[in-house]
Amino acid sequence: MAEQLFQKRIPIFPRGVKGRFRSIKYVILFVAYGIYFLMPWMRWDRDFGPHQAILFDIVGRKFYLFDLVVYAQDIFWLAGLLGIGAFLLFFVTGIAGRVFCGYFCFQTLWTDVFILIERLAQGERNARIKLSKAPWTANKIWRMSLTWFLWLLVAFLTGLSFTLYWGDAITLSKAFFTGQAPFPAYATTLFLTATTFVMAGLAREQTCTYMCPYARFQGVMFDQNTLVVAYDEQRGERSNGRQKPAKGLLKQEERLGKDVGDCIDCGFCVQVCPMGIDIRNGMQYQCTSCALCIDACDTIMDSINYPRGLIRYASENSMEGKKTRWLNVKTVGYGIFILLISGLLVWSIAHRSIVELTIRPIRKPMYVVLSDGRILNRYEIKINNKASELKRFRLTISGIKDAKLELGQENPVKVLAESSSIVLAKVVTHNPEKDKTRTYITFKLQDVTNSTTPALTKTSVFSLPSR
Ligand code: SF4
Ligand code: SF4
Repeated sequence: MAEQLFQKRIPIFPRGVKGRFRSIKYVILFVAYGIYFLMPWMRWDRDFGPHQAILFDIVGRKFYLFDLVVYAQDIFWLAGLLGIGAFLLFFVTGIAGRVFCGYFCFQTLWTDVFILIERLAQGERNARIKLSKAPWTANKIWRMSLTWFLWLLVAFLTGLSFTLYWGDAITLSKAFFTGQAPFPAYATTLFLTATTFVMAGLAREQTCTYMCPYARFQGVMFDQNTLVVAYDEQRGERSNGRQKPAKGLLKQEERLGKDVGDCIDCGFCVQVCPMGIDIRNGMQYQCTSCALCIDACDTIMDSINYPRGLIRYASENSMEGKKTRWLNVKTVGYGIFILLISGLLVWSIAHRSIVELTIRPIRKPMYVVLSDGRILNRYEIKINNKASELKRFRLTISGIKDAKLELGQENPVKVLAESSSIVLAKVVTHNPEKDKTRTYITFKLQDVTNSTTPALTKTSVFSLPSR
């Protein structure tokens, strides 16, 4: 028989558990789902533009984030945000290992909900294992259908909610269900529905183990001071190993006397693990630091009156009885980078200009000599009004004596809210610098609807005839 190159997936049926970390994970899950699903429906009062708090307007090339409107040219803010995200991830990983994976990652959050659905439709771990091995009876068909239907519903709502961030949620959802939405809305929803269903329902831990690159390179960010979910082997095994409770091995003192470890080999920590690993075998790259095994072991320790913490968050140093040093060159360096990029981003957003002026000299021809000997240069002037109200701007020039500006339209120039206007300008003057082929001219743009707004100035080239 041909040798199999790939191991077939061994299905994992995680058991439910209660505890401190499980509760924290539920709170994070609740908040994350609340934000993700409700945000497209949140309305926001704007004088101009959509009344949706968060909207990514691809056609208008604007992103609305509450009172902040991000234009395509502000894309470097996104680079700043990505930079902060990356360094924050390195910083947190350096201190507390893969807590992002275990608590905040989409894959973890959605898989958690899919497991909850599975438990609701099919029962606890043992019932699910039994059902998976059972023949296809009416009961199995009903339970599996219910599971897949609820998974599909969550996956569809996930896909649709994502789509609603890219258009007015109320209008787009009506159009979606009446078959009048644009094709990309259906394609995006279908794609997200399918990927959510496969990743959270079918692939689950395989997504983290085989597809996610972060699981593979996170090791380089770990050191002896990084917190990981660890089994206290010294306490759990002692010199005579772990043993199930039996006569003479019930109380902790009895076990201590016989040098038997505190681990009663109940397997609860393995049964709750969504990655299907046994943390007692040491740190493994599959572990997402979700801490459910800590809750499981603490539950067991409480029930037999042993101290908690046989499995706990601990650094390699603390396990060896040494001090954990949170602050080291690496974490301080990441922290400084985060503060620096955040400061720059906040400064850039706080000092963003609501008006932009671009001057482009028209090169064909570079200049025209008029019949009276004067020189004419033409310019394409773009005024971008990012404000949520109509504005009027007066354009003036300086830098060349006696130069005249002709706009061919009224000056002040009217620019609608959140729009831009292109003005074709002519500048005419007697040759100011007869021995040069170019000089410079300064354009000044003054907002006349709000005279307290500082004027914008831009200097451009004024081309002259060559000798
Ligand atoms: S070993 Fe523990 S912390 Fe790691 S994935 Fe499994 S349950 Fe979560
Ligand atoms: S839950 Fe605790 S006692 Fe039970 S097998 Fe795991 S480590 Fe041992």
